[in-house]
Amino acid sequence: MTRDNLKQAVFDAIDAEKETIIGVGEALYANPELGYREAFGTQQVAEIFKGIGFQVEENIAVTGVLATPPVSLPGPVVSVLGELDAIICSEHPDADPQTGAVHACGHHIQVAAMVGVALGLHAAGAFPQLDGTVNFMAVPAEEFVEMAYRSRLKTEGKITWFGGKQEMIEKGLFDATDIAMMAHALDIGPGPATVIGATGNGFIGKEIRFIGKESHAGAAPHEGVNALNAAMLAMNNIHAQRETFRDEDRIRVHPILTKGGDAVNVVPADVCMESFVRGASIHGMRDASKKVDRAIAAGAMAVGADVTIENIPGYLPLLTVPELDTLFKENALPFCEHRIIEGGEFAGSFDMGDLSHLIPCLHPFTGGVSGNIHTRGFKVSDIDTAFLFPAKAMAATIIDLLWDGAQKGKAIIDSFTPSLTKEQYLSLLKEISETRKVAGNAF
Ligand SMILES: [Zn+2]
Repeated sequence: MTRDNLKQAVFDAIDAEKETIIGVGEALYANPELGYREAFGTQQVAEIFKGIGFQVEENIAVTGVLATPPVSLPGPVVSVLGELDAIICSEHPDADPQTGAVHACGHHIQVAAMVGVALGLHAAGAFPQLDGTVNFMAVPAEEFVEMAYRSRLKTEGKITWFGGKQEMIEKGLFDATDIAMMAHALDIGPGPATVIGATGNGFIGKEIRFIGKESHAGAAPHEGVNALNAAMLAMNNIHAQRETFRDEDRIRVHPILTKGGDAVNVVPADVCMESFVRGASIHGMRDASKKVDRAIAAGAMAVGADVTIENIPGYLPLLTVPELDTLFKENALPFCEHRIIEGGEFAGSFDMGDLSHLIPCLHPFTGGVSGNIHTRGFKVSDIDTAFLFPAKAMAATIIDLLWDGAQKGKAIIDSFTPSLTKEQYLSLLKEISETRKVAGNAF
């Protein structure tokens, strides 16, 4: 069989398996689960892979699935990923009324596409013709939400890191992977279209708590220490840093107050704030993070409040591999009628960014959806484009990577210089994980 014949056989197989592929996506959409809670999604994906005789490992990082085909030849290992988790967006008409969870980031599409790649390659008999292994991972917890729940999991020893791919790297689940790929949904107009080679910001998460002293807000405010004023000053101080952020670092700091006080007639003594500090480079985001910590500490000191800043490693900036993007582009082109957007800089963040510092990663965006991600308007607008197009384009890319002695795959792996080793990566996360305290009476 020629390479092109094999690709066509895989496309036909994906079309023939359409019901299962779209079915798993729709089942996940109807049962949205937040990160590290994806029991239903794990079970759905595991069932499909067991049904076609794959070796299946469940709950690889609290939840999640690793599936390996029964036959594979020696050569590079390509991992196809699909993220299981939903986002919280209570305003969305399909949000779970209890949790607010909804697939408004299209992760259900990723899982369906990952399953589509597997079913297509399997049914077309591709695995024994490829010089390497393809494994499939339904991965947990990409959205950085429910910090309190994840803190609890951490205390209970169930996770080390808040992000699913961070946790999987820690657990060694990517140790054998040479190339990883996934496709993320994005509103890029009707019909098949793709964005390739786009980068993303990294971020550091912050949980901040200002402790003041309660007193009667009317009768004795002079006896209190107003923690809300400390937080307000901290926010203003952060704003005063903005002129120092360089354009190329693409810094975004967006704090919110999660607790502003207890009662209106009591001077607030316990005020909580959360923030992300995003940036396009590790150095840029760490530099901005230090300035933000300083701004917060100064707010607390001004009124004599205590403050605790807990820095939590978010995700690293998303790096791209041009050769991998080009290969995907060539395979997307027949479906896209030249509707391919190249490059771009997302100020948002993805935990694929972490993996992209260690191994070559492909993270294109694909269409078939409308509305902005993480908003009430996000929906699938073209079922075939959303679910089947990324499966076909990724499957064809894998065939190219692993065809004929896996020459293309090996060339990409050989020319890739990781920006961090796994050890350096894990020590960076530990370094970022810092709790900083300032006492209100320090000055
Ligand atoms: Zn997403």
